[in-house]
Amino acid sequence: MNALCCRRFVVAIDGPAGAGKSTVAKLLARHLGWLHIDTGAMYRAVALKALRMKVPLDDEGALATIASSVRIEFSNSPDGIQRVLLDGEDVTEAIRTPDVDEAVSVVSAHSAVRRIMQGLQRKLVEGVHAIAEGRDMQTVVFPDAELKIFLTASLEERAKRRWLELKSRGYDVTLEEELKRTEERDRLDATRVDSPLAMASDAVVIDTTHMTPQEVVEHIIALIAQRLRRHGD
Ligand code: C5P
Repeated sequence: MNALCCRRFVVAIDGPAGAGKSTVAKLLARHLGWLHIDTGAMYRAVALKALRMKVPLDDEGALATIASSVRIEFSNSPDGIQRVLLDGEDVTEAIRTPDVDEAVSVVSAHSAVRRIMQGLQRKLVEGVHAIAEGRDMQTVVFPDAELKIFLTASLEERAKRRWLELKSRGYDVTLEEELKRTEERDRLDATRVDSPLAMASDAVVIDTTHMTPQEVVEHIIALIAQRLRRHGD
C-alpha cells in the first residue's frame, strides 16, 4: 500500500480525549510507513511553553506570539516512538502532565493560536501520505482528506484509559479526578466557537469502547484499501 500513485493520501482522525486517536494513528503510521501528525501534541507544546513562561492563558496575543515563534518537530526514536521536540528540547513526556491537560483546551480555543497551528499542519502534509489526528482535521484542516475517521468511546472508558496511563507514569491521580478533567476537556473542545470538535458528514464512526487498538487499526487499513481501489490505485 506504500507505492501509491496519487499525490497524497490523508487519513483525518478526530474524536474526543481518550478515544484512542494517538495510539491508533501511531500504529497505522508505522504499519504504512506514512507520516503521523499528532496535532494535539502541537497545541500541548504551545501550552507547555506558555505555562513555563507564566503567560496568562487568556492573553491571546502573547499565546499567538509563542505559537508563531516555537519550533515544533516530530522525530522517530530508534524504538519507533515518535518524540516531540519543542525548540529542540524533547518534551514528549512533559506535554502529557495533568497541568498541561488542564491548560491545553484553554490555549487551543484562541483563534489566533489555531490559525498558526492549522497553517503548520497543512504544510507538514504537503505531498506526503499522512495520518493526521486531532479535533478539527476532517472539518477544518483537511476537509478534502481521502478518508475521515471519527473515533469515540464512552466517557468512563476514556477517563479510565487516561487514568491508567497517568498512574503508570507515577502520577497520583484518582479515577474520579480524571473523569472530571476529561469531561471538562470534552466540554471546552466541543463548545468553543472556533473549529470545535465535530464530525464530518462523510466520516466513518468507530466506537472503540470494546475494541483493542489492533482491531481498530485493521478496520481502518481495510477502509484505506477500499478507498484506494475506488481511486483506481
Ligand atoms: O489529542 P490530545 O488530547 O493530545 O489534544 C490535546 C488538546 O489539544 C485537546 O483537548 C484540544 O483542546 C486541543 N486540540 C485541538 N485541535 C486539534 C488537536 C488538539 O484543539 N486538532
